[in-house]
Amino acid sequence: MHRSGVVLSKIGGIHRVAIDGEQVEARLRGKLKHGPSRILVGDTVTMAIHDDGSITIERIEPRSSVLKRRSPGKKSGVTSVAANLDQVIVVGAAKDPRWDARLMDRFVVVAEANDLPTIVVVNKADLVDDASALAAPYEAAGYETVITSVTDAQGIDELAMHLRAQVSLFTGPTGVGKSSLLNLLQPGLRLRTAPVSEKSRAGRHTTVAAEMHPLSDGGFVVDTPGLRDIGLWGIEPSEVANAFPELRQRLGDCRFGDCRHLTEPGCAVQAAANAGELNASRLESYRALLREAIEAAPPWAGKGPE
Ligand code: GDP
Ligand code: ZN
Repeated sequence: MHRSGVVLSKIGGIHRVAIDGEQVEARLRGKLKHGPSRILVGDTVTMAIHDDGSITIERIEPRSSVLKRRSPGKKSGVTSVAANLDQVIVVGAAKDPRWDARLMDRFVVVAEANDLPTIVVVNKADLVDDASALAAPYEAAGYETVITSVTDAQGIDELAMHLRAQVSLFTGPTGVGKSSLLNLLQPGLRLRTAPVSEKSRAGRHTTVAAEMHPLSDGGFVVDTPGLRDIGLWGIEPSEVANAFPELRQRLGDCRFGDCRHLTEPGCAVQAAANAGELNASRLESYRALLREAIEAAPPWAGKGPE
């Protein structure tokens, strides 16, 4: 008999797979063990259920997305983290810690560069008068935003609605309330709070694999150390503007085809900024991230640092 399921975790050779609300343990069929079709958390797999009750994974279904992280020790320089993410939820706090627009934009840009739809959450709304002002630049850029407070349960139903039937990765700075939000959304969720230290102390792993948790009304959340480690690697300077939707829509209007939207004459982005049509903070983030991408991959060095 064959069944299809979603891989939740991978520990040693054992895969925990969700099938219709149940969880089973499955091993890889030998011929899948090597080669490019390595199984990732989030993969949809077809399994064979054998007469003795054992379950083997026979096939990996095509992926809609693969999230990668930088991995300097590897020849390719990257490691795949999770498959089939539908969206990234970037959480920031209105206060405690202070809202850091540069850092928020960095998370949003990494998600965007991975072609993943992004929702911006402003949490701890209870601590300020007007949390929606912090969300406004993202609204204007076309992002879904949700204002939440764990303390008075503001926005929790709205956030839950966005998570339904989706595979979501929560990310954002430390201390903004990601675990608190998830625990409120799904009581009993066992997130790993201090992912690296525990295991490295035991001398086993230095990195932690992704893990997925099913939500009771459908959908999954992915638990990883976050996009922080994933960084801006591999984003060519010319692609940074594409990761800002409000800039992307104006790129064809600049005088020069290779305009960097810094100080070039006839720049449509600068014109829009001057006309008050662009958020100044977002533009500043664009310029900071562009500078960073140029440093990482100087145009005169061809394909970037070895
Ligand atoms: P994480 O590092 O993003 O997972 O953040 P945590 O969920 O651990 O939350 C950090 C701290 O912020 C904890 O002390 C929470 O109780 C507190 N916190 C989380 N959400 C809210 C909120 O909406 N309002 C207030 N006032 N505090 C919150
Ligand atoms: Zn321009």
